[in-house]
Amino acid sequence: MIIIKTKEEIEILREGGKRLAGVLYKLKDMVKPGVSTKDLDLYAEKLIREMGDTPAFLNYRPAGATTAFPASLCVSVNDEVVHGIPNKKKFLKEGDIVSLDLGLRHKGLFTDMAITIGVGKVNSASQKIMDITERALQVGIDAAHGGNTVGDIGYAVESFVRVQKAKYGIVEVLSGHGVGRAIHEDPYVPNFGKAGRGEKLFPGMVVAIEPMLNMGTKDVTIDEDGYTFRTADGKKSAHFEHTILITEGKPEILTKI
Ligand code: MG
Repeated sequence: MIIIKTKEEIEILREGGKRLAGVLYKLKDMVKPGVSTKDLDLYAEKLIREMGDTPAFLNYRPAGATTAFPASLCVSVNDEVVHGIPNKKKFLKEGDIVSLDLGLRHKGLFTDMAITIGVGKVNSASQKIMDITERALQVGIDAAHGGNTVGDIGYAVESFVRVQKAKYGIVEVLSGHGVGRAIHEDPYVPNFGKAGRGEKLFPGMVVAIEPMLNMGTKDVTIDEDGYTFRTADGKKSAHFEHTILITEGKPEILTKI
């Protein structure tokens, strides 16, 4: 069921999104060679709790999962696409790219955001896939006008990615989603598709758009931990996400400072 948020809910989501973006940008400054992925997670949790809010992913059990997610932050390094589990023995290295994906609950309502960051100095192919993925997210947001459909978002993202010189794989088995009263709500927001198809976007809907691009195949595998998605060919992957409010015209990015 698609939920249209009330004015009061939108105000709360706006504040939650601002807080979430603030936390992620602080984490960004902490990304350096030698930092463990668990250090990032603990810092995220600390910052969220200090504001009186709740980390949305900690102990969250998605439909079909046998265990709850054991951390506040998803930390996905290099060939890990999304949902990497932080580990105190896993340290970031110069040249890695790392996706930080975080959900926050503020006054009962959820926002969701992700960024991918280079660790120290990264090679040009790594920088490029991060840049293109971030731009693909913006292209998707630009297509998310009220009256358009989720297919228009997917079509815009896919068309943009297909004209790049590098032949990136667009992950298809994972998608963006509605968000707000729950961390995952209807509709699905795929990063590929046909213009005009799928659920219509109405003002007051809140959705997370989150393209995931791979340097090679679009195919992914899932680790034995039941959470970590990684590229089937071991090549790197990048991921960016914003929570946005659908309006009559240009959408409003909620996860911004
Ligand atoms: Mg999400």
